[in-house]
This record gives sequence, structure tokens and C-alpha cells, in this order.
Amino acid sequence: MTVRIGWVEIAEGVFVRRYPFLDQNIGVVVGESGVLVVDSRASERHARELLGDLRVITPRAPTVVVNTHAHWDHGFGNQAFRPCAIWGHAAGAAFLARTLDAQRATAVESDPALAGEMATFVPDLPDHTLTDRATIDLGGRTVELRFLGRAHTDNDIVAIVDGSGIVFAGDLIEGGNPPWFGDGYPIDWPATDDALIALAATSYVPGHGQVFSLPEVAAQADEVRQIVDLAERVFEGHIEFEQAVFLAPWQPDMAREAIARGVGQLRGDLG
Ligand SMILES: [Zn+2]
Repeated sequence: MTVRIGWVEIAEGVFVRRYPFLDQNIGVVVGESGVLVVDSRASERHARELLGDLRVITPRAPTVVVNTHAHWDHGFGNQAFRPCAIWGHAAGAAFLARTLDAQRATAVESDPALAGEMATFVPDLPDHTLTDRATIDLGGRTVELRFLGRAHTDNDIVAIVDGSGIVFAGDLIEGGNPPWFGDGYPIDWPATDDALIALAATSYVPGHGQVFSLPEVAAQADEVRQIVDLAERVFEGHIEFEQAVFLAPWQPDMAREAIARGVGQLRGDLG
């Protein structure tokens, strides 16, 4: 494993940088003809910092950006990367239209210094989209993008770096915290986790927090399944909501949001 001032080379030509803001991971895959960046950070300013940091790895400009999903901290830096091709799930545009105001507010809450940028922010949407899978050729190396099902949002995609044992999993998994369910589809999540586990990668890079091994992905998937079981028991009237929160494997606030969202999905509230 090579460390290049802030970057960790987790496989040959595959890099991760862990930014203190939101403990976010940014991925880079260097091919013979192209350089791919996984997620563009939270704003133009953050993205420009990332573009500067990329020079530690390669003198070449990035050619492709992948937005793992349409959350602000993963795609609001897109405009700084043009003329790169930007990839994302086809459902991301509608998701962003529904959630843009809330996402801008969350961005400012997370970092008040973003208020100025967010006041005039217009999303730069992916110009390349997929609904199931797509393959990106970087020259001597390919990256496969896959939609494995709804989970953290309705538009999560993973990036599988061919032959490296590395999967960039976006916020399907989260290090140091439970995954975030605020825009999630809890009832779908276990099946999506099963598909993620079936990729049998050596290392999974989450959107935030430490890199996961396969058993660590399985352990977090097990917790998600426990949350879904509890939501089902509440929905079916077997236990009270607060009892479910007490029985959950997570801190009450996180469990409350996840279980409530699960019950809401079972009631048909999420469409
Ligand atoms: Zn997210």
C-alpha cells in the first residue's frame, strides 16, 4: 500500500482520499487514457480543492466523474470538473428536483461557509446515465457501474474496478456510523446489500468512513436486516415503535429514523 500525501493506493492505480469534512472518501482510478473520479464533493470550492489534490497522483486532468448518488456531498462539485463526462443513475435528476431545497439547507447546516455558494447553486447533472449497468473504458482498465437496487436512495450506483478487488459503494455502507436512512428505502435495502456482498470484493470503499472488508459489509447488512425486521414487527402490530427503537442495534436517533422510514415504506408512504 502506497501513501501519497493524503491519498492511499488501495490497489494498483486505485486511490482513496479521506477528507475530514463529513469523513468523506473520494476515489480515483487511473487508466492509460483516462482518469476517473468517484464523487465530486459538496461544492465548487470543495471540488477545486480536490482537483488540486489530484495533481499528487497524476499530472493528467480527470476525464470521467461518477456520482454514486444524487446527494449534495457527492455531486454538488460537478461543475468544477467539466468538460469531464459525468455519470450517474437516471433517477438522480428527479430525486434532485424533489430534494434540492432540503439538500441545500443540509449543506449550509453542515458547513455555514457554504451559504454563499448554496444561495446561487444550480446543479450540474450527469450527462451520462444508467438504469442497470454501464462500462467505462479508461485504457487498459475498465470500471463497471451497477445499480443493485434501492437502498440509501432510489439512485445509488456502485463502481467496480475491474481486476482490482475494489468496489466503490457510495453510501450503501457507512464507516463509523449506521448508514443514513433519511431518503432511504429500508425494505429494499437488504436485497441490495445481498447484491453488494455477492460482488465478493476484497475491499469496499464507503462514501464515508473507513474502508470495509467483505465481512464488515456483511455485518452492517445484518444490522440493516435487523432494522427492517423491527419495522415489519411494528407495522404488523406485534411491538410498539419505541420498543423497536430500544431493540435496535443502533443509537436511538438513528434507529428511530430508520425504523420510521421502514414503517412508512410498508404503509406505502414512499410511493
Ligand atoms: Zn448519501
